[in-house]
This record gives sequence, structure tokens and C-alpha cells, in this order.
Amino acid sequence: MIRIDILSVVPELLESPLSHSIVKRASDKGLAEIYVHNIREYGRGAYRQVDDYPFGGEAGMVLMIEPIFNIITKLKAERDYDEVIYMTPDGEMLDQPMANRLSCKRNMIILCGHYKGVDHRVRENLVTMEVSIGNYVLSGGEIPAAALVDSIVRLIPGAIGDEMSALSDSFQDELLAPPVYTRPADFNGWRVPDVLLSGNPKLIDEWRERESLERTKKLRPSLLKGED
Ligand code: SAH
Repeated sequence: MIRIDILSVVPELLESPLSHSIVKRASDKGLAEIYVHNIREYGRGAYRQVDDYPFGGEAGMVLMIEPIFNIITKLKAERDYDEVIYMTPDGEMLDQPMANRLSCKRNMIILCGHYKGVDHRVRENLVTMEVSIGNYVLSGGEIPAAALVDSIVRLIPGAIGDEMSALSDSFQDELLAPPVYTRPADFNGWRVPDVLLSGNPKLIDEWRERESLERTKKLRPSLLKGED
């Protein structure tokens, strides 16, 4: 059982990604508990203020430390957390080994930034790990958090129907996945490779391995050199 607490100022953005498909199934099966907390409920005063102008007078707003501190402190009083993760474009790049590692944790907090980001003291004092989903900037940490959660939860044994299917995905063995096809075998003359229709498991396995290797050499040669 893995428990993930996501902190956000726009929790609505997380509703759909967390309530369908594999993530939903994992929650229903009791493999993962995922809670979304609205930082605004911990905001200051009647207006529930959570953001303010940056010191030094730059454009844009910054998420204040106090509401975030309050919610993290409350959660930590209830249980221990293995990681407090901040989603940020300058964090460690999310990849399959990181997802594998995090899928073995018990409790984690994922903090989504917004606007210009969070008061840097949050990162200096409360966060234990910073994760990026790529070298580009999105408006909020919710989509990155949804990507991270999905990448983790689908790895929990039992989350995916066919246990083997997560293991045969790209990157699990430093190789890209081979191509997949389904019926019809011939669509307007575009044919599925004959070997897949041969019924010969040995030939099919050999074909898949060869395709994996060739696609990796062509599309992600750095995986073979152990650079990624
Ligand atoms: N001013 C910041 C970007 C803020 S974007 C900077 O230049 O680094 C607003 C929020 O979206 C961030 O706080 C972060 O939580 C989230 N975010 C945006 N792009 C992201 C990415 N590539 N990976 C992870 N989180 C991202």
C-alpha cells in the first residue's frame, strides 16, 4: 500500500487524471491511497490568501510558505513521509528508474507549484526531492504530479491487469518496446508482420527482441550506452 498526498491550489485539475483507468483501479483495489489537498484551505485570513507578490518586484505571484508549512506539518503529525516532492522544471528529470524507485515507497507528499512557483524557503526547508517532467514550463505542477503519480502507481503489483505488461514496457530493461499490432491482420493492404501470425513463440520472441534493439539504437541510442 502506497499513500500519496498531493498539495495543490487548483485541485480540480487533478480530478480527472486520478479518477479513471489504472490509477482509479489501483485505488479501488486498495493498492494506493491518493488524497488531494487544497492549499487554499490552509490560506491566511478570510480570503484564504495563498499567494503574494515577490520580494524584489518581479512580475507574477509566488505561493506563500505559511499555508504550505501548515498542511505539511499537519500531515507529518499523522504519519511519517518518505519524501516531500516538489514538482519543478529545474528538478531531477522523471524517468523509469525514478518511477521504479518511488513505487517502493510507502508515504509521500507531492507539492504542486503555481504562478512563479513557491517561496524558495519551502524548497530549502520542507522539500526532500525535486522532480521535473521535462525541460519546458507548464502553468502548474498538477499535470506533472499526475504524470508522476501515474508512472508510480502503474508499477505497483496488481495495478495492471496483466502483471507482465508493465515489465515489458519501454525503458524497463533499457530497451524500447517492440511495435504492437492488433486485428485486422490486413487493413487496406497494410499488413501486420507475418512472423506475428506464425504462431511460433520462439520466432516471435526473437523478432520482438530484434525490433526492441533496433528501435532503441535508432531512437534512444543513449539508453544502450547507459547514459540515461
Ligand atoms: N518560474 C518557474 C516556473 C513556474 S511554473 C521557473 O522558471 O522555474 C509553475 C509551476 O508549475 C511550478 O512551480 C511547478 O510546480 C510546475 N511546473 C511547470 N513546469 C514543470 C515541469 N516541467 N516539471 C515539473 N513541474 C513543472
